[in-house]
Amino acid sequence: MGTYSFKSLFVPALLVFTWLKPIGGQQSDPNSAVLKVPGATIDVTLPGETTKLSHQDLLDWVKACANAVSSYYGRFPVPHLTLVIRSSNGSGIRHGVTYAKDGGLIMISVGRDADIAETKDDWVLVHEMIHLAFPSMEDDQHWIEEGISTYVEPVARVRVGLMQVDELWRTFVHDMPKGEPGPGDHGLDNTHTWGRTYWGGAMFCLLADIRIRERTNNRKGLEDALRGINRAGGNIAENWDIEKTLAIGDKATGSTVLRTLSHTLSSETYSATAQPPSADRRSASHQTCCSGRQNNVCCSSWSR
Ligand SMILES: [Zn+2]
Repeated sequence: MGTYSFKSLFVPALLVFTWLKPIGGQQSDPNSAVLKVPGATIDVTLPGETTKLSHQDLLDWVKACANAVSSYYGRFPVPHLTLVIRSSNGSGIRHGVTYAKDGGLIMISVGRDADIAETKDDWVLVHEMIHLAFPSMEDDQHWIEEGISTYVEPVARVRVGLMQVDELWRTFVHDMPKGEPGPGDHGLDNTHTWGRTYWGGAMFCLLADIRIRERTNNRKGLEDALRGINRAGGNIAENWDIEKTLAIGDKATGSTVLRTLSHTLSSETYSATAQPPSADRRSASHQTCCSGRQNNVCCSSWSR
């Protein structure tokens, strides 16, 4: 989406955020604050110059975004986050970047003219916080990191009332086709365009969510798989391979949806608008891939 990360059902309304350290005070830095969220601490560095949004406005925005992510994952995905908010010209919230440093570091820019309405409509910080919940992948698999953040962000925001559900579907209908393979595409592992990385990855998540719900009579969804990965210690500070990661996610839903779909979409020009391949076709296509393309990504990821 519009931000680049270097690595971005309902939970009871228990997400009570408390201050450990108030803004200001004799010993404290007026431009820093510590937010305590269930199971996690967020150290926030606030802009040192005057902005239209007060420090309290900015902290309310951070809390709302953390609440959305915590609701989806059942808790905040890392025990400690360092969040640096910088001011920039104009309005809007942009340039979010997430690093693995110190267990999680997000840097984000807020326009000096940005107002509260823009913070309520913001997707960037939620996108970046979602990156915290998934292990760091090899370069060829950035599509799954960005795809998860792209897909989960609006879902998480809808579930806490930060976005209307019809807006979510308008966004998916409008933007999901940007992830479709074009001519010469060789699968998500081998096509590192913006559309395939962000929306191709989101398409993987949408299909995975639907298939998990089909396999489990709607008892489980993608969030159960992603929670399972996070609970097993998967977060941005960990370097895991995709096979290990998706196997843990599949175990949480009692299925093989993530691995099967990944094997298909990572190396084939699969279109979400086409009929999903049958089990027989998936098996045959995988055998063709691995027997005919030795030492490529498909085979190496399959054999890990
Ligand atoms: Zn991202």
